[in-house]
Amino acid sequence: MIPFDFEYYKPSSIAEAVQIYQTVSDRGQTATFISGGTEFITFARTNKITTDAVIDIKGIPECHVMEIQGDELVIGATVSLNKITESKAFPLLGEVVKKVADHTSRNKITIGGNLFSQLKFREGILSLVLADSKVKIAGKEGEEILFLEDLLKNKMKLKDGQFLVQILIDKTYLDSTSISLKKTRLSKIGYPLASISALKKDSQIRVAISGVCEYPFRSIELESTLNDDSKSVNDRITQALSQLPSAVIDNFEGSAAYREFVLRNMLEDVIQTLKEENA
Ligand SMILES: Cc1cc2nc3c(=O)[nH]c(=O)nc-3n(C[C@H](O)[C@H](O)[C@H](O)COP(=O)(O)OP(=O)(O)OC[C@H]3O[C@@H](n4cnc5c(N)ncnc54)[C@H](O)[C@@H]3O)c2cc1C
Repeated sequence: MIPFDFEYYKPSSIAEAVQIYQTVSDRGQTATFISGGTEFITFARTNKITTDAVIDIKGIPECHVMEIQGDELVIGATVSLNKITESKAFPLLGEVVKKVADHTSRNKITIGGNLFSQLKFREGILSLVLADSKVKIAGKEGEEILFLEDLLKNKMKLKDGQFLVQILIDKTYLDSTSISLKKTRLSKIGYPLASISALKKDSQIRVAISGVCEYPFRSIELESTLNDDSKSVNDRITQALSQLPSAVIDNFEGSAAYREFVLRNMLEDVIQTLKEENA
């Protein structure tokens, strides 16, 4: 049971959603956008989140889209993780989100909810940031399109009243040679000790990592080290591990030393798998 009362809105357009948020804010109350609602329900039940109003964006047609529009694959914020995997529209993204939670949960969990989850993993970000994806955001100042990487650098912080409408992925990335690896503490399903997505573009390996540091990241500096053919693979990885953007997580699920060990092996697999591929 959710231990607080809240109003529930299900707008049928972007403008209506923005308006509802504004109306609730003008009353001095808080409003929360939800896509799949699974995290909201879990956190609300345990008092980790509270709100005066929920704005469920599942009624907005633009948020359901998953299709090629011009040169881009467009994925709406409320598309479920299972639908993304089953569509095979962007295989790397499909592989990554297939490892999030169990099959039944993935029918409900959406890509928008994964990207803006309050948990630190947000694994859907990994493949999208490697593909230079953009995001369409809506708010009271209208709609804007941003690079996901810029949003990620800003810890996925949106302005007050903004929400994710769609993700836009350039078609040229959809069939890129790629690999996704994930290691959990015990079972196949679980939060990652380390999760890595890698993609080859113009003969260069790109990598994005979750589970190792406090936030998912892509580092150009680290990538350039991994691509430095003048060094041995071992030396490249040792240097790359010294270029992580923050301290390695050290908790009951895995020590920092163990996570680093896991990441080292994953980076080796990434280089071995992608080095011979011409992409
Ligand atoms: C059993 C289980 C295992 C999991 N394992 C993993 C894992 O291994 N890796 C991983 O990355 N995640 C994992 N997750 C986390 C999961 O991806 C998130 O909880 C995700 O937020 C749920 O999606 P949802 O659509 O239900 O989110 P919601 O409950 O709808 O929203 C979650 C958060 O995102 C915000 N939000 C939702 N939609 C939007 C939007 N369009 N614009 C702006 N903000 C928005 C909401 O305000 C809320 O703060 C797991 C979850 C479960 C239940």
